[in-house]
Amino acid sequence: MCGLSVKPSPVRFNHLLLLSLVILLDSKAQQTELEWISYPPNGWEEISGLDENYTPIRTYQVCQVMEPNQNNWLRTNWIEKGNAQRIFVELKFTLRDCNSLPGVVGTCKETFNLYYQETDSEVGRSLRENQYVKIDTIAADESFTQGDLGERKMKLNTEVRIIGPLSRRGFYLAFQDVGACIALVSVKVYYKKCWSIIENLATFPDTVTGSEFSSLVEVEGMCVSDAEEEAENSPKMHCSAEGEWLVPIGKCICKAGFHQKGDACEPCGRGFYKSSSQDLQCSRCPAHSFNDREGSWRCDCEDGYYRALSDPPSVACTRPPSAPQNLVYNINQTTVSLEWSPPADTGGRNDVTYRVICRRCSWEPEECVPCGPNVGYSPAQSGLVDTYVTILDLLAHANYTFEVEAVNGVSDLSRTQRLFAAVSIATGQAAPSQVSEVIKEKVQQRSIQLSWQEPHQPNGVITEYEIKYYEKDRIYSTVRSKSTSATVNNLKPSTAYVFQIRAFTEAGYGTYGPRLEITTKEEATGRMYIKNARVHICFIQYCLVVHLHCGYSKADQEGDEELYFQFKFPGTKTYIDPETYEDPNRAVHQFAKELDASCIKIERVIGAGEFGEVCSGRLKLPGKRDVSVAIKTLKVGYTEKQRRDFLCEASIMGQFDHPNVVHLEGVVTRGKPVMIVIEYMENGSLDGFLRKHDGQFTVIQLVGMLRGIAAGMRYLSDMGYVHRDLAARNILVNSNLVCKVSDFGLSRVIDDDPEAVYTTTGGKIPVRWTAPEAIQYRKFTSASDVWSYGIVMWEVMSYGERPYWDMSNQDVIKAIEEGYRLPAPMDCPPGLHQLMLDCWQKDRAERPKFDQIVGILDKMIRNKTLSTPDFTAFCTVGEWLEAIKMERYRDNFTAAGYSSLESVARMSIEDVMSLGITLVGHQKKIMSSIQTMRKQNFSGAVPRT
Ligand code: AMP
Repeated sequence: MCGLSVKPSPVRFNHLLLLSLVILLDSKAQQTELEWISYPPNGWEEISGLDENYTPIRTYQVCQVMEPNQNNWLRTNWIEKGNAQRIFVELKFTLRDCNSLPGVVGTCKETFNLYYQETDSEVGRSLRENQYVKIDTIAADESFTQGDLGERKMKLNTEVRIIGPLSRRGFYLAFQDVGACIALVSVKVYYKKCWSIIENLATFPDTVTGSEFSSLVEVEGMCVSDAEEEAENSPKMHCSAEGEWLVPIGKCICKAGFHQKGDACEPCGRGFYKSSSQDLQCSRCPAHSFNDREGSWRCDCEDGYYRALSDPPSVACTRPPSAPQNLVYNINQTTVSLEWSPPADTGGRNDVTYRVICRRCSWEPEECVPCGPNVGYSPAQSGLVDTYVTILDLLAHANYTFEVEAVNGVSDLSRTQRLFAAVSIATGQAAPSQVSEVIKEKVQQRSIQLSWQEPHQPNGVITEYEIKYYEKDRIYSTVRSKSTSATVNNLKPSTAYVFQIRAFTEAGYGTYGPRLEITTKEEATGRMYIKNARVHICFIQYCLVVHLHCGYSKADQEGDEELYFQFKFPGTKTYIDPETYEDPNRAVHQFAKELDASCIKIERVIGAGEFGEVCSGRLKLPGKRDVSVAIKTLKVGYTEKQRRDFLCEASIMGQFDHPNVVHLEGVVTRGKPVMIVIEYMENGSLDGFLRKHDGQFTVIQLVGMLRGIAAGMRYLSDMGYVHRDLAARNILVNSNLVCKVSDFGLSRVIDDDPEAVYTTTGGKIPVRWTAPEAIQYRKFTSASDVWSYGIVMWEVMSYGERPYWDMSNQDVIKAIEEGYRLPAPMDCPPGLHQLMLDCWQKDRAERPKFDQIVGILDKMIRNKTLSTPDFTAFCTVGEWLEAIKMERYRDNFTAAGYSSLESVARMSIEDVMSLGITLVGHQKKIMSSIQTMRKQNFSGAVPRT
């Protein structure tokens, strides 16, 4: 019984999966004669026939099986290739089995040859064999099948071959028959391209795929009309060899006045605006504004309303405020205080301030003039935030009018009449004029005696003088005197004082006279000494406080995280940076065993390391079995620094003891060459190992490897060691498929990684493997190692594919910044891809810890949540192909007669290839699914031997 089919999880960019063939030749589509060239005349022959659907077709046939030494050529017409570089040739043909033809032994053949010739134009109808390049010998997978009624029936074969890169304008195909019985039923020639699409408001043109199977063609997008490129983020995409668009980077955004609708930018409607391309939506015009055009970036203000220069287009239009209310005044001789309430209407703004205009008026007729600069305003004449002001130094017995105006950000833009509140006032009696001529009568250590003259204009009877005095920059004190002299006491010796004097009458105080500076007399030195000593003690105390503070703030700067990483649970060994040893030799001998060179037998060179050759060999320690080892040697003529850096790896590795971390046997430092001896890892680096065994492991085996690497990393991170260069190339694999973390060193060792490139933040970084925060500001932590671990997961599940294929490092950084993450590799269970995505969280605190990763992988292995789809859930071949994301081959299966899953379950790899499925990866994927189908015992299918 059929269950519901499970929809496959989305791969890459589903919406971009526009499979795209451009047909250059399709013999089946031609109804008239093909008129290809055939030579000699009794060889290939054009014959009309019917295809499997009884549609008339043109075929070429040859069957000279009785005569020996056949050499029959057939050449197509000239095929113009356009921009294509990689051309696919699909042949459908039937071929008779020689066994079915009696009496042809020795002359009958079962293959033919396919050739091509590149030219820039048509070259006439003569046919010269030596100008052709052979593409392949084509054999039939099936020459006959046994028909239901026992009669022999021809079977249609499909073969696809790829030619390229091609450089001329076009080419011919040629078929050479050497004595077979063939009917060429159809010849189809095509290339693949990524069809023009619009993505992120950018148009990407039709793009022909690259010449190599693995190449990505980078394409710049053009913004659709009324859109512009986002700053420093021009749109790009990549066209894969399969004709799929991948990895969109950057984008276009609708210009001001336009908003996005589907794949286009549309103008904002009337009454709406969009002020910047950064805004997403058009907005309704704010209050007191309007527009009657489409596509506006702002709205105009209604009459009488304005926008201040600093007002953004999103705020309402406003108007000047109304006049202040309830203006009241208070006169004190020649000083006037005004107070008022805020205006009833602020104009819609909250930046209302006030200004005062002062005019002095003659008595009769009333004529007013501005008060001029001699009048004082407290706190100010304009820009008043509070609703009061004091006006000082007015003339006595004069008439004044004061206008108080409320202003806001648009007052100066308005041409309407000013609105203000006004009062008219007459001042009272004037105060006395200045006391000027002051004389110092007597200056002592602690007192000063002064005398002065009465002011020139007393304006009344002077009842008192006020003497104001102060030490420079200090608060002042006053003393009063009824006469024109005074003594000021309680002063400090040797101190400069400033004095000012003013007179007082009924009309109030006059203004102060000019400043007079006088210094008191010196005192005995004994006291001074004591004072200095006190200053000194204070200074020491101050330093102490500052020092304590510095110590505190340093600890504070280190942050919680650093503290967390340095804090270890009791019992856990902590990694010690060998750089902290003054003598690097001591570090090596602290952590690594010195081996006797006579115990080591070097057998052969297995690789090249940064400091010298890497060899394999054997180590025989007294009383122990000999073991296989890898021996890293330090080349002759090394510098002291090279020796130190070389041994540094041993000082680090020697601190570790874990089954998933490469084990150090010891070092030879007391002889030459200097050597590091490590356990031997038979299968070398993980990346090369996986590429060599592409597609050969089960998902459980791959996850087992990943589990090992995660366990090794958990151990290292628990010890406080940050690897910084975790990548499949730095994992070693032994003969039992156990993976071990290797390649230890200090940060500079990364400099030796060929993947590491200089970044803008300085330092060399293997960009594709490194977390964004480590690239941007060198924040390397166990969390950045987790990011790298996610990349290793992807490398493992894709059998050593290069992360981000051939994208440039800059594009990788940009794509990551924009949130792009590597898609699930082929056949990768969704749970594993989800774990990768978790490791690639932008916020490093959100990434799982190695401990959790080990737990998740263990659970997956235990619960077998890694299996491929349940085949009993599918009814048809189409559903099955869709579930394994191979629906592109639906027609191939149908054409070859595989109409039921039972028949599919019996297919062999050869059957799959005969469908015209040429990509090895796809063949493997289909076969592995068929094998699973058999294991699930699909409908009792019997595997074919
Ligand atoms: P390295 O200098 O560590 O990058 O080593 C250079 C190459 O030597 C590696 O890529 C490995 O192929 C090989 N190699 C290093 N260590 C071992 C080992 N312990 N066992 C086997 N091969 C090793």
